[in-house]
Amino acid sequence: MHEGAIAESIVDILKDTAKENKLNKITKVALKIGKMSGVMIDALLFALDALRNEESIIEDAKFEVVENDIKAHCFVCDKDFYFEELTDIVLVCPDCSMPLEIIEGKEMEIIEIEGE
Ligand SMILES: [Zn+2]
Repeated sequence: MHEGAIAESIVDILKDTAKENKLNKITKVALKIGKMSGVMIDALLFALDALRNEESIIEDAKFEVVENDIKAHCFVCDKDFYFEELTDIVLVCPDCSMPLEIIEGKEMEIIEIEGE
């Protein structure tokens, strides 16, 4: 993943949102990043920080990241399984051995934007 490019697209979204809502600056941004998204959170925050100098709209913005656990579902047992670490993921259902489907953990979303 290219965290620099992701940071730039986040800032683009923030600029559009600020314009639509007539905000002069963004004060807080919450991001939800799935543990399977491939995004390195430290690198993303670093890239966002680096953009503060160029983009005055985010100069004082506080970025918060919520890491989303991985959720997999077995359609045979109709059960959900959660994995906190990538290394913990099992690909088959522990109960019936059918393949699990990953239904959460790949996301990269902006869940909250505050500004003034
Ligand atoms: Zn199962």
